[in-house]
Amino acid sequence: MKVEIVTTGTELLLGEIINTNVQYLSRKLNSMGFDVLYHTTVGDNPERMRAVLEQAMARADIIITSGGLGPTRGDITKETVAELCQAECYLDLDTWGRIDAYFRKKGRLCSANNEKQALVPVGAEVLQNEVGTAPGLWLEYAGKLFILLPGPPSELMDMCEKQLWPRLLERFADQGIILSRTLHLRGVGESLVAEKLDAVIMAQTNPTIALYARYGEILVRLTAKAANQDKAVALLDACEAEVRQYVAEYVYGVDDDSVAACLGRELLARGKTIAFAESCSGGLASSLVTDVPGSSAYLLGSVVTYTNMAKMKLLNVQEETLNRFSAVSRETACEMAVGVRRLLGSDMGVSITGNAGPEPSEGKPVGLVYIAVALEDVVYCQEHHFSSTRTENKLRIAQTAIGMALDKLKEE
Ligand code: ATP
Ligand code: MG
Repeated sequence: MKVEIVTTGTELLLGEIINTNVQYLSRKLNSMGFDVLYHTTVGDNPERMRAVLEQAMARADIIITSGGLGPTRGDITKETVAELCQAECYLDLDTWGRIDAYFRKKGRLCSANNEKQALVPVGAEVLQNEVGTAPGLWLEYAGKLFILLPGPPSELMDMCEKQLWPRLLERFADQGIILSRTLHLRGVGESLVAEKLDAVIMAQTNPTIALYARYGEILVRLTAKAANQDKAVALLDACEAEVRQYVAEYVYGVDDDSVAACLGRELLARGKTIAFAESCSGGLASSLVTDVPGSSAYLLGSVVTYTNMAKMKLLNVQEETLNRFSAVSRETACEMAVGVRRLLGSDMGVSITGNAGPEPSEGKPVGLVYIAVALEDVVYCQEHHFSSTRTENKLRIAQTAIGMALDKLKEE
């Protein structure tokens, strides 16, 4: 089944918001075996939207729209689709009742223009919105299936997970599924992984194997096609076992696993605690660690010591060290790691100091970073050079620090 995703909204075209809906929808649809062949984005303009929808009808079987189902005049998706499908709209009392109840629950008054949201094209079925007001629609016309979804990502996802995906799977049950699994590798380069897996990759048919690098780690994605979920899982299990034979020592996680989650598991297993002292990463390493539920069991706390004054006051970094070697130095990093470990009484102290860019500071080049890990009687320090934008550097720096903490913990 060929799918075209049509995201609507002038703010997407202006670059004011990131089109996360298209990514979410594409990933899910591909994993269910649909062929997503086109992504189109159009502003809130009736003529252009109609032209885009006509084009989609000519080249896809299923057209999925996001956005433009709200109560304002600028929200025109439903009206445009209804006109294209020559369907009159009627006031759906069930939907109207739900919208009214939604406002009552929130203690707000429903305004007259919300009635627009309860208008349903004849022949369409309603996908109820359980977390917002705009209902979604499922409308089959001229051999094509139109699916209209609300723009706000939380509403769109809730509707898809609870209603749309089960329904699509049922409606197109015979097309089989595509299932992917991603192995996360670290401490190894892409070319070495490619070399080690060369024979397996050359022999691949189903599952297929793809390699790519992201934020300092290597991802190996296995994708299986099968008649059903169980068969796809069996194919992936066998393929994963084969891949692991060659690269097992580098694999730290599967699918949504993160280095921070892995560090958390290792700390828990050893009953150890950790604390971070962050300068150029501005607290991002701690933030990533706290993305993992239950991290309070091992992260005692962290400090963001951005100035020399803060490094001295909170971490007991010596003024002489800062004067002689500067804040971006091996010596300062080591004193910070020791300092935060002492300050918070943790087993491990991890420090980050460097220049995230975009300008050199204190004579230190952009991207130069020192990361130190202090344990009971030893301090390790690594020098790194990062070369992206400030935002991306910060993320890479934070990930590298978490990775180094993980390595030192395992080596201990
Ligand atoms: P509402 O009832 O909130 O008006 P709607 O269905 O009319 O919902 P839009 O008005 O198009 O949807 O978008 C509402 C908000 O949803 C946008 O301001 C934006 O924050 C978010 N949004 C819309 N489309 C996307 C998208 N493709 N990706 C991510 N966010 C989006
Ligand atoms: Mg809107």
